[in-house]
Amino acid sequence: MPARVLVVDPVDPVLDGILAKHGIQVERRIGLARGELLKIIAGYDAIVVRSRTRVDAELLEAGARGRLRVVARAGVGLDNIDFDAASKLGVRVVNTPGPSTQSVAELTIALMIMAARRALEANLRLREGEWYRPLGMELYGKRLFVVGFGRIGRRVAEIAKAIGMRVAAYDVVDVREEARARGVDLVASLRDGLREADVVSLHVPLTPQTYHLINRDTLRDFKRGAILVNTARGELMDTEAVLEALENGVLSAVAIDVHEREPPGERELRLIRHPRVVATPHIGASTAEAQRRIAVAVAEELARELGSLEGVEGGG
Ligand code: NAD
Repeated sequence: MPARVLVVDPVDPVLDGILAKHGIQVERRIGLARGELLKIIAGYDAIVVRSRTRVDAELLEAGARGRLRVVARAGVGLDNIDFDAASKLGVRVVNTPGPSTQSVAELTIALMIMAARRALEANLRLREGEWYRPLGMELYGKRLFVVGFGRIGRRVAEIAKAIGMRVAAYDVVDVREEARARGVDLVASLRDGLREADVVSLHVPLTPQTYHLINRDTLRDFKRGAILVNTARGELMDTEAVLEALENGVLSAVAIDVHEREPPGERELRLIRHPRVVATPHIGASTAEAQRRIAVAVAEELARELGSLEGVEGGG
């Protein structure tokens, strides 16, 4: 029987063609209700999700009672997938880090410039016919602090250097080589970096250690008037504390692609609607180029995983 793959979040159709070439059947049920998904998941060898679908222990158990052997995340963050439950059940989890790096880095820089130049505020007022020209801040020579010096953080640092920013970074793993190669200073702690930065940009994954990394306490370390940029995960910041910091002048602007709740609830909307916030609805990886690269990478991962599983079965 050919392997069957269920796609529940929008993934570029190039995926289907590649899997078909490997004799793998693909079914697309985008936006399937959770109850339905729980009922049918056992009939598939693999499920493909983006960040929208929550793959928790209940769903994994339902799948593992049948054929489910692989969860493929089309994208980077694995925080919507219960990794421990998957490994206990022998379900492999694969993701596609890399294909979206450039797109997320470009959006990060775009949001940073928009915040620094108060471009959204100016645009909204211009639409009303008002000729209002806010005084912005030039990024050249300013200090950018990159929190998490992985793929996206490094690319953001490279582009920021080209603008003429001075870049510092912090990471929990040894990134001395990567920093040296890009002319980036490493700081010993989050606090050291926050104290010096004109712009702080978050690029760490969401983990129990990074949940609410930006909170009332760490916000005290920010330089007055700093800009906060977050294109990583909404839960990295305490939304209410960030709003307070904007209101009392600790932050001069906030630029965010991600939100504690997505789609946003009342708490998130209070922040989003603040005049000095520029916000987008989690579109970091939403470019035709990134989505195509992600779909190709997912298809290749799945072909490898399902192919090798077939091989193991055939050999046994
Ligand atoms: P990556 O794994 O290459 O880099 C993450 C870095 O953060 C690593 O170097 C890691 O050591 C470091 N890190 C982990 N915990 C840390 C901590 N407590 N303090 C400091 N550093 C820490 O990941 P990436 O490809 O650069 O992606 C980063 C994040 O961006 C993802 O986890 C995801 O949440 C987010 N993302 C968002 C979008 C979007 O659409 N906005 C798209 C892709 C990725």
